[in-house]
Amino acid sequence: MQISNKTRHLSDVGCSHDCKYCYAKSLLNFRGLWNPQNPSIANIEKLKRKINKLPKGTIVRLGGMTDCFQPLELYNRVTYKIIKYLNKKKIGYLIVTKSSIVSNDEYLKIYDKNLAHFQITITTTDDNKSVQYEKASVPSERIKAIEKLYQCGFDVQVRLSPFIYEYIDFDILNAIKCDKILIEFLRVNHWIKQWFNIDYSKYTVKHAGYEHLPLSIKKECLKKITGFNQISVCEDVDEHFEYWKNNVNYNKKDCCNLKLGG
Ligand code: SF4
Repeated sequence: MQISNKTRHLSDVGCSHDCKYCYAKSLLNFRGLWNPQNPSIANIEKLKRKINKLPKGTIVRLGGMTDCFQPLELYNRVTYKIIKYLNKKKIGYLIVTKSSIVSNDEYLKIYDKNLAHFQITITTTDDNKSVQYEKASVPSERIKAIEKLYQCGFDVQVRLSPFIYEYIDFDILNAIKCDKILIEFLRVNHWIKQWFNIDYSKYTVKHAGYEHLPLSIKKECLKKITGFNQISVCEDVDEHFEYWKNNVNYNKKDCCNLKLGG
């Protein structure tokens, strides 16, 4: 995903959501380091030391190689404490999650509207389908979390990633009460092909080790997304990215489309 130059990653190893298609899992499994039953917990003091070195105006991303709102957050509270510290240091944060814990009232009380940004990921609108390949909150709960954050006035986006046309009921998607959506089309390799039961023959564009849909098909898929004022497409294929940037993306300078400046 392309993100603001000043955005950094605060990442850790392992994730109990254990999404079958997870990119981090594909890397760590290979090295025998993926342990979803007992994911490692970030060291708060170490994180604080890293935060202390960040220049003003930085936005850190929470949720790169793991999810910062796994169920164990309810006990160890690392994310809660780090958000409070980021607020104190006036460092911005982009929270990317598949968990509805993000909208629990105790967290809503501490987010700073000038610093906090949210992308809540959905991969399907079908709860029964999602439980077959993700152990996170079901999509209907994630949608409720998006709507709650939006209603409270936070900078929140639906993150449709990966966008798999066959997995989406567009009536449900377009009815989500939120004005921003970020889209990343599925990119396919051997790892991905194991997990999604779809027709891969249309993925004919090869780029950087992945197979992609042709731009013409992507454009047709995008026409079905009508319920949002601000659309943004993040993209790896250079030619496709140029098209989205010039014709679709709400903010041509930042495909993450974060609301900056409060
Ligand atoms: S929530 Fe994100 S980091 Fe966690 S398993 Fe799923 S894809 Fe991987």
